[in-house]
Formats: sequence, C-alpha cells, structure tokens
Amino acid sequence: MSTLPAPSALDASTQAFPVLTSAQVDRVRPVGKLRKVEPGEILFQPDDIGVPFFVLLSGRMEIVQPGISGERLIVKHGPGEFTGEIFMISGQRCLVSGRVVEAGEFIEVSGDGLRSLVARDAELSEIFMRAFILRRLALISQGFGNVVLMGSRHSANTLHLREFLTRNAHPYVYIDLDTDKASQELLDRFEVKMSEIPVLVCNGSTVLRNPTTQQLADCLGLNVSIDQSQVRDVIIVGAGPAGLAAAVYAASEGLDALMIEADSPGGQAGSSSKIENYLGFPTGISGQELSSRSIAQAQKFGAKMMIVHSVVRLGCTHRPYELVLDNDSVIAGRSIIISTGAQYNKPKIENLKKFEGQGIYYGATFIESQLCEDDEVIVVGGGNSAGQAAVYLAQTARKVHILVRSRALSETMSRYLIQRITENPGIELHCKTEIVALEGDTQLERVTWLDKKTGEPSTHDIRHVFIMDGASPRTEWLQGCVALDNKGFILTGRDLDDPTGIAPHAAWPLTRAPQMLETSLPAVFAVGDVRSGNVKRVASAVGEGAIAVHLVHRALADP
Ligand SMILES: Cc1cc2nc3c(=O)[nH]c(=O)nc-3n(C[C@H](O)[C@H](O)[C@H](O)COP(=O)(O)OP(=O)(O)OC[C@H]3O[C@@H](n4cnc5c(N)ncnc54)[C@H](O)[C@@H]3O)c2cc1C
Repeated sequence: MSTLPAPSALDASTQAFPVLTSAQVDRVRPVGKLRKVEPGEILFQPDDIGVPFFVLLSGRMEIVQPGISGERLIVKHGPGEFTGEIFMISGQRCLVSGRVVEAGEFIEVSGDGLRSLVARDAELSEIFMRAFILRRLALISQGFGNVVLMGSRHSANTLHLREFLTRNAHPYVYIDLDTDKASQELLDRFEVKMSEIPVLVCNGSTVLRNPTTQQLADCLGLNVSIDQSQVRDVIIVGAGPAGLAAAVYAASEGLDALMIEADSPGGQAGSSSKIENYLGFPTGISGQELSSRSIAQAQKFGAKMMIVHSVVRLGCTHRPYELVLDNDSVIAGRSIIISTGAQYNKPKIENLKKFEGQGIYYGATFIESQLCEDDEVIVVGGGNSAGQAAVYLAQTARKVHILVRSRALSETMSRYLIQRITENPGIELHCKTEIVALEGDTQLERVTWLDKKTGEPSTHDIRHVFIMDGASPRTEWLQGCVALDNKGFILTGRDLDDPTGIAPHAAWPLTRAPQMLETSLPAVFAVGDVRSGNVKRVASAVGEGAIAVHLVHRALADP
C-alpha cells in the first residue's frame, strides 16, 4: 500500500488506511452486496454524489485525483481495506476517482447502509470515522483538493474565502499572487482585473472571478444532498456550538434533523484560536477543530446541514412552521431550535467598513495571525475573547496593544487571562482608550486612538486591528414571532411568566406551560447565546442544545 503522508497523529498512516480483520469484514457483509470488479472499472469519480462505500475482499484498486497537470495517486487499496472519506457521511460530492487495477470481489455498501452500520457497531464506527477524518486532514495538508484559490493579502474576499474553506474543512491549494509572480503573469495574460481577484478554479474546470461564498458553495455542491421539500422533525437554525450539539443529539436520537447556517459552521467559537475552559480538553482546543469534529459527529448520525443560507423569516402562524431562506425557498419543520447566537458589535468608527478584511478583523485564527506576523496589532475589547486573541497574537506579532473602554480588565475578563496578559512583555494594555480614526489607501495603514485619561489623541503606524467588542443577539429574522427581552434576546420557559416581559405568559396558546428553553411559540426552542439569561460559554451552549432535543420529543408528542 502506498499512501499520501498523513498528518502528525501518532501512527496516523495505519489509522488512516487500516486493514480490517476477517471478523470485522463479516460484520460489514449484511449491510452490503457482493460485487465482482474488473481492471479499469471506475467505481466513483469527482463530483459524484451518493457514492457507495467499498470493502475489498480480493483484488486491488487505486484512488487518484485528476488535476490540471495530470492525475495524482493518493493511495492503493488491497484486501481488507476500505474506501471513503468525510464526503461518505456528509453526502457531499466526491473529490477523487476510484479505479480497479486488479480483478476481485468487493462488498458495496450504500450511504444509508454505512450510516446504519456505524450507528450500531461502535468498533467499526470508530475505525471508519477516524480513517475518514485522517484522510480528510491528509488531503487538506497535502493540498489534494478540487479548489485552487489564487488570491492576495490585499483582498478582503481572499481572506473570507480562505476562512470559509478552512471552516468547512475543504482541502484547497492557495497561490499567493503577492509572491508568485508566474501566476500573476498568467492572470495578466487572461486580463484578470484587480477587482476580479481572487480567482478560484473549482473542480479543475470552472473559473470563478472574485466569487461569493454562495457561488463557491454551489460550485462545490456543498448543499446538494438537501431535500428541501421534506418536512423535518426539527430544523436547527445556526450551526455554532449550540446548534451543532442539538444536531448531534437530535440525529443520534432518531429525529430527522436539518441545520441551516448563514455562513460556515462553528459560530463565534469557530473564530477562537483556543478554547481552554471546555470540559475534556485540558490543553485547549481551537474553535475550528471543535466545530469540524462536531460536524463529523452530527453527520455520522445522519443530520443534514445547509450552509451559506440565512433564514430571513419564520412563518409562525401555523404548523408545521415555515422557514424562509435568503433565496426565497421555504423549508418546513414540526419543531425549531433557534441557535443563531450573537454577532460582534461594530464600534462607530469612520472607515471601519472600508477596511474590513484589509486590516480590520473580527476573529483571530491562524489565517489572520499569518497576515500580521512580526507587525504591531491592536485588539479592541476587554472580554475573554479579546484576552484570548491578544495572548494568541502575541506569539507571532511584534507587539499587541489592547484597547479597553473600562478602567481595568478585572471588570470583564477571567483572571487566568489577565495574568497572562500582565506577564507578557509583548502585550501593552491601554485602559479608558478608544480608536477615533482609521486611515489608509486600500489597506489600513494608520490608527489614531484617544486616551480618555489624558484627553490626548495619538497616531500609530499600525495595520491590523482586531475588534472583539461584545456581541448582540441575531433575532432580527424572527419579526415578532417569539417574545424577546428588552435587549433582543429570546425569552424562554419561566422567563415568559415575568409580568414585566414583553410578551407575558398569557400569549402562550396551550394549556400546558412552556417547557424550559421553549419560546413563546410551542415547539420552538432557543439555545445558546441568543437566549435571554444564557451565560455565553461554549459549554452552556452545548448543554442547552442537548437539553432542547429532549424537550423537542415532548413537544412533538403534543396533541
Ligand atoms: C473569539 C471568541 C473566543 C471565545 N472563547 C470562548 C472560550 O474560550 N470559552 C467559552 O466558553 N466561550 C468562548 N467564547 C464564547 C462562545 O464562543 C459562545 O458562547 C458560543 O459560540 C455560543 O454558541 P451559539 O451556538 O449559541 O452561537 P454562535 O457561536 O454565535 O453561533 C450562531 C450561528 O448561527 C448562525 N446564524 C445567525 N443567524 C442566522 C440565520 N438567520 N440563519 C442561519 N444561521 C444563522 C451564525 O452564522 C453562527 O454560525 C468565545 C467567543 C469568541 C467570539
């Protein structure tokens, strides 16, 4: 067997491409059918959907990826080995070709057959899931993707598309036009204008100029397996930690669950460089890793996910409830879990929008940290997300300035972060200080801040500002359907009884009382940061997502 090198995990090459024992193979047989194969037979190819899973009993096959410069061999499979990668469980399009090179007999298993097998056979589930995830990681690290992105650090959309591909764990090759002169010349010859950068080559054929994430998702077929006409048991709006947890529990408990996510999965936590207080990860875990593991887990149990589509309206006058999407399509659900979280507050500073992605960032992940290596940066905000960003960026930046409105960090930040900040010589704290001006041509070049203690403004040649300044609930799409508190967060359970609440309990239409986490609409639940009274932590979002599913079962049993 020759394999593409796997990532750093111990013994990853055998775990990515294990050989099943004959007893394990025997447990696959009942869900599949035997298929005789001949050399040259193509079993699947890029762009196929609904690709079956194969276990080789005899014979051999090779997995290759066709590319612009010819075919690349990824791996050869022999007896006892199996095909497959994350797309097997996500239902998305296949990235590779599978070709038989030696006649033999394979077990062919449909996607549904594989899902039912992993749901009841814990040992095989672990072997397959680990292999699929390691194979995807290897594809990502080797750039064995079906996407080539040619971009520039001076283009905000390049950053956006890179983040989108990374957060969707989609392998891609990045060509930096700022350093790769040959590629720049190629684009010049094809008269690609500055405004058309980044250029994206999708599936080796379609060329997209400065595409939206929606166009990219369509080109990659990331939403192809979603049947929009089906009335779902539960629709989960928002795929942050709360929504992902709800999807895992709903699907694992046999509910037909669909998640709808406006951007890429992971939510606010997905933009965290390291979450250190989530149970079970003593050395911390990046938001990106936590969300990609959760997506795989949800999809393993059969949850479906539609990305880059916002829900713009809730049809709440009759049941099943109807969710209207940004493309005007409508999806119906017998119950709804609202997990739309919160979005960053944007301080009122002139030119803020102009420099978004060109010096103004709302997340501090690996990609942003690369952009400001060895530069000075500013982090705005005094909460934990700002503290984490400052500590993370201090590893690569020349200097980090934290700007906070309050007198001291102790009013808003956890002690462990304050200690790391005060002990780090690369971080300087400026209390009672606010940005008052941003300047630059296309890229941010200078920042002026005002020290309110002295009343003195000062201007600095700083090209990167990270805004981590609190967040507001994303409830605008609910348009009066559910009761909100006076800050716009969703009221649930006993909070609906509050006589000072905007919608008192009297608005509740059933004889039974609303359940914990249930909104003023029966069978519509709110979880995570969007819920009034939630404590704004990953753990509480995850916990509420899990509890809501338990309550959905009860609400669905209502007469
Ligand atoms: C940088 C940073 C670091 C953090 N670090 C920590 C930490 O270390 N520990 C900790 O416990 N907490 C941390 N937090 C807080 C934690 O991330 C949040 O409490 C958690 O993400 C809330 O999860 P959620 O699922 O409720 O909402 P969110 O994470 O906000 O997710 C909501 C999702 O809903 C989607 N959405 C919104 N509106 C719509 C719509 N109309 N249609 C479809 N989709 C929609 C959004 O795109 C988003 O993906 C951090 C937050 C940030 C920003």
